[in-house]
Parts: sequence; C-alpha cells; structure tokens
Amino acid sequence: MKTKIAVAKGDGIGPEIMDAVISIFDAANVPLEYLEVEMSKSVFEKGFSTGMTPEAVATIENCAILYKGPMETPKGGGVKSINVTARKVWNTYANVRKFRTLKGVDTIFSNAGIPINMTILRENIEDTYGGIEFLHNPDTAISYRLISRQGTEQFIRFCFEYAKKQGHKRLTCGHKANIMKMTDGLFLSVFYEISKEYPEITVNDVIVDDLAMKLVRFPDSFELVCLPNLQGDIISDLCAGLVGGLGFAPSSNIGDSICIFEAVHGTAPDIAGKGIANPTSLLLSGIMMLRHLGFISHADKIENSLLHTLEQGIHTGDFGDKSIPSVGTQAFADAIIKNLGQNPTEAPVVNTGTPDFEWKKPENTRTEIKIFPETKYEKATVKGADLFITTELHPKETAALIQSILPEGLTIQMISNRGTQVWPTASVFTDSIPHFRVRIYHKDADTLNRSELIRTIAKVAEVIDVEDIEILKEWGSFRGYSLAQGQ
Ligand code: NAD
Repeated sequence: MKTKIAVAKGDGIGPEIMDAVISIFDAANVPLEYLEVEMSKSVFEKGFSTGMTPEAVATIENCAILYKGPMETPKGGGVKSINVTARKVWNTYANVRKFRTLKGVDTIFSNAGIPINMTILRENIEDTYGGIEFLHNPDTAISYRLISRQGTEQFIRFCFEYAKKQGHKRLTCGHKANIMKMTDGLFLSVFYEISKEYPEITVNDVIVDDLAMKLVRFPDSFELVCLPNLQGDIISDLCAGLVGGLGFAPSSNIGDSICIFEAVHGTAPDIAGKGIANPTSLLLSGIMMLRHLGFISHADKIENSLLHTLEQGIHTGDFGDKSIPSVGTQAFADAIIKNLGQNPTEAPVVNTGTPDFEWKKPENTRTEIKIFPETKYEKATVKGADLFITTELHPKETAALIQSILPEGLTIQMISNRGTQVWPTASVFTDSIPHFRVRIYHKDADTLNRSELIRTIAKVAEVIDVEDIEILKEWGSFRGYSLAQGQ
C-alpha cells in the first residue's frame, strides 16, 4: 500500500528539481503515490485568487501532506503570497528548518573547522504575516502585528515536544520583548510558562539582534531556537547563509491536520529551464517528510547517499569545488541514485535509530472552522481611546480643537508622533509627520461607556480626519496599552 501525498511542482526551477527528487525516491523504492495538484502562478492567471484550484485544495486536504516546489506570486494586483496562504489556511503553525555543515559545501565556518548543526523553529501564522495593512494617508502605512496567547501556546508547546522527541537538551527563545512589550512580551511569557511543563529541557532567551550577532560569531553554540514569525524568517535565512545558502536548507510546516514540506529558496527565474538547479533543499525537505511519514530507513538511506555524493565532490553549479566541473540537476540526482546504499566516510553515518512506523493520517471530521475554547476574560475597565489622525495642525492646535469637543472627564493625555510624545511636552528635535496619535483618557472613570466614547469620537471625526481608533483598556492594575516614548 502506497501513501498518497499531494505534490505541487511549482514555478521556475520547481518542476526540474521535483522531477529529480521523485526519481531518487522511486529508485529508493519509497512507497509513495504522488497526486499532482494545480497550485502555481498559472492558477492565479486562470482567475483563482488563492493560486490553487478547488480540486487541488480537496486533494491536499484529503492527503494531509503537501510536498511543494517554489512558487511565484504575481507582483501587484493585490494577490496574497500563495506560500503564506497555504501555510495559514491549513494552520501549519510551526515552521521547522534544519541547518548543518555539509561536506563538499564550503563555508568560512566549515573551512575553519567549526561545525554547525542547529534547528530554527519559527511561528508560522501570526505576527505581521497576517498581512493586515492599511494606508492611513498616502504617505503613512500601518501594519497590525497580531500575537495571541492561543496561537503562541500551540506553537511553543510544539517546540518543547519537538525538543523532547529529537533529544535536545536546550531550547532558546529569540524575541524583541524589550521594545515590543505587548506582542513579544506575550510570546516570551508563554514560552516561560510552558517551559515549566518540561523541566528536563534547559531554557533561555535572547534578544533577536543579539542572537543575530551571536549566530554569526558562535554558530556552534546554538542547537534549537524558537522565534516569532518575522524574526524567525530573517534568522532562518541568516542560518541558511551560515551553512552555504538556501540551496541546503530544508523546511517543513507542521500543523495538526495538514503538513507542508518545501524548499526554502524561490523559483530562481534566472536559471529556470536550464536543468542546472540544485535539488538539495527540496530533497532534504523530502527527507524530513519521509521521517514524518514513518519511512525512516528510506530517509536514512537517501540522506547517507546524498552525503556520500557530496563527499565525492559532485555538485551543481551553485556550490562546490570550482576545479571540478559541475553537473546538471538530473545528473546530480542520478549520482545520488547510483550511491544508494553507500554511506558517507567523513560525516557521521545517518542512523536515526528510530524504527519505521506506520503514519496515521489525521482524521478530518471537520465541517466548520475551530474556535479555541472560549476564554472567560475578566471585564476590562475602559479608560479612553487612542485616535490616529491625519492633520497638518500643530499638536497644540490639535489638542485645543479636540479638547473643545470632549465631554467633562475626558481629557487629552498626550499626542504622539510615530510613537514619540510631542504634546504636552516635547523635544524640539522630534520631527513630526502629519499623522498623530491622540490619547483621550478618563482618569477617574471606573467604567467608561464604550458606545458613548465612540459617539464622542464620531464628533471629533466631524472636525478632523480620524483614521483609526484603539480602545484603551485596563484589567485591574494591568495596562492593556503601551506608553509613548517620552511620556
Ligand atoms: P530565489 O531563491 O528564487 O533566487 C535567488 C538566487 O539564488 C538566484 O540567483 C537563483 O538562481 C539562486 N537559486 C535559488 N535556488 C536555487 C537552486 N535550487 N539552485 C541553484 N540556484 C538557486 O529568490 P528570488 O529571486 O528572490 O525569488 C524568485 C521568485 O521566487 C519570486 O517570485 C519569489 O516570490 C519566489 N519565492 C518563492 C518561495 C517559495 O515558494 N517558498 C520562496 C522565496 C521566493
């Protein structure tokens, strides 16, 4: 019985590298049946706004596994990235990328004898990747960075489980909670809360800029790092650079129902159709998929053959010893096929020690979206609102104008520009753009009525361009909003 998986070959070099990898799987007798699905740039052009046909969606949801090549998202026209859409609609909340030194892939670290072997776990569906963005005026763009406790818990729990299963002793959390105290602060506190359930794993955290510096200076001192989405995206490409580039970085997107395995590089339009692309990233992602599906011995055998082939100096044009002529995509795959059964002689032989197992397709009984179990939140005290406005008025004129409209009790607490207070006190050196945040605040109100507050804001909107509103809330002594710089 073969396991059915959905395969989307992708755009550019995608079909070439996918065909090469499948030829390796076939030669290694991997019991997979490949159901090719229509998911690529050409599908957008046929008028499907997600880049996938309904048949493709049905096949992927039915197989629960998608193996995909790189895909191009048409520029402009407002369509969303097909790759991000796939990860998000199927709730693949954890992205796993492995980076290690490979013989035959020269880097400054491999030449210096510094071995790298680390895994980056990236939260995959929240953060700025919601792509919730607005223009408040033609010159001012706003993006929502949404981080939820529920989403973070799901991801962080996966990270600890992953650490346990893979035998890691240490898990590091990268973040920027010193600046983004609400969003990264929530992510970090969930990390430490959940760490208490895993006392056998040593934890620490590091601010992401410091992490970037340390990764470049001491790449062998990290083994497993988890991060929010955008920071994880950047850090994982940095790590790819440490081990020789994106051509050697495998990636999996893990969810409870559907998992996606893909190469991390793009469609390489500059070399597409030439038969010279490097299939290693897609192959390594496929090896991760085989292990996920329980085909451990097949995965070990193919990986050992790949390592042996690299040790022989066989390489595509994008890497390797320039004194040895490069080979094309299929010739590289053929070399791996020829070496099936061979082991590396310099790198450790891959023997994961895990026996093959029978993968069980997650049962899909869903007919509706799942909403996380309802959380009973303590009632918030509404203290006021932040109004985002476009105006060329000086902040002192804005303050006088808006204050004249506010009912008794509500006052303007501060006005900020790009997050820095410019009224009632300001540094003369704080240059301002014509986009301000006006904080209206009721010092004594226990329960300010939300609808009355919004009616007041409606009156403000009659005299000034209100672009957006955020309600200010407090839960006991916990403030649900940040202060302005200089406030
Ligand atoms: P890219 O990764 O396609 O190419 C960057 C450089 O790396 C190019 O010089 C290319 O020739 C080279 N390269 C990439 N993969 C290679 C391989 N396997 N073998 C040899 N050389 C390789 O990045 P880009 O040019 O920024 O993006 C091109 C397109 O790919 C864009 O449309 C982008 O949106 C898309 N993209 C898709 C994914 C994905 O599907 N996950 C990821 C990144 C970019």
